[in-house]
Amino acid sequence: MLSRLFSIFKNKDDDYIHGRRKCSICGNQVDFQIEKGSSLRESKCPICKGTRRNRDLAKVILMTYVNNDTTFSLSSAMAYLKKFVIYETQAVGPIHSYLSNLPKYICSEFFDNIPLGSLNEDGIRCEDIEDLSFPDNFFDIIITQDVFEHIKNPSKGFTEIKRVLKYDGYHIFTIPFHEGRKSLVRVKKDGSKNIFSMPPVYHLDPLKETGSLVYTDFGKDIIDYLKSLGLPTKIAVHEKFYSIDDIPYIIDEAEYKRYLSYREKGELLKYFLYNSVVFISQKFRVEYGRNTSNFG
Ligand SMILES: [Zn+2]
Repeated sequence: MLSRLFSIFKNKDDDYIHGRRKCSICGNQVDFQIEKGSSLRESKCPICKGTRRNRDLAKVILMTYVNNDTTFSLSSAMAYLKKFVIYETQAVGPIHSYLSNLPKYICSEFFDNIPLGSLNEDGIRCEDIEDLSFPDNFFDIIITQDVFEHIKNPSKGFTEIKRVLKYDGYHIFTIPFHEGRKSLVRVKKDGSKNIFSMPPVYHLDPLKETGSLVYTDFGKDIIDYLKSLGLPTKIAVHEKFYSIDDIPYIIDEAEYKRYLSYREKGELLKYFLYNSVVFISQKFRVEYGRNTSNFG
């Protein structure tokens, strides 16, 4: 039954060895799989379950901290990464599974019923990205995967990321990217109240049946925006599957209705068609008025 649902997705850009491609997370030679019509950004490794966006993020970790040699995968790079203090804002997923073997790896989730910085009954640390409990200049690497579109006040979140990063440290992250478009603030906060400037849009969330509310649709201005917050940023991976017009941009009633029809059918992965884009920001040190970031 399952095999009927899946068709094989072949992309020449993936490392291609003996007709199968190497997963940059688990290192296995596999055929990546995806349900027909779903966003190619979600194609999965059948072994570690890493999606295309997970695998591209792993590639950026390897490119930054190991080398550009495609024989490496996250699974074979542990010795290179063990000296780094790493923070990931999730406690699930294939990247987490590997990094959690490292001695200086910290992960968290957000729970609204326990104090920030404490552990829940399963031993998972509770953190709010807008109000992290870590000291300044603490992490070499921070990883966030499709998180920032759900942050109530993204400027506060990015500023916290910058605060807890060491100088020259990197924030490596993914967001659904509305390339060629302007960022949209869909929901603003007034104290604890949500003020909707646009109708509510939810992404799938394995932990929540209603899904996860989207506060911001990030667009092309994100690079300048992060630079203005003191986080020079570049796009490290940009795998283009879709044109700007294929990428959903829910700004009028007709498009909102289209979104709702996919949501009602339970087919949101077929609606949210995004390219796989991985960003990397660096906390730069200002010395003698000079910005020392690699990104200029
Ligand atoms: Zn894999």
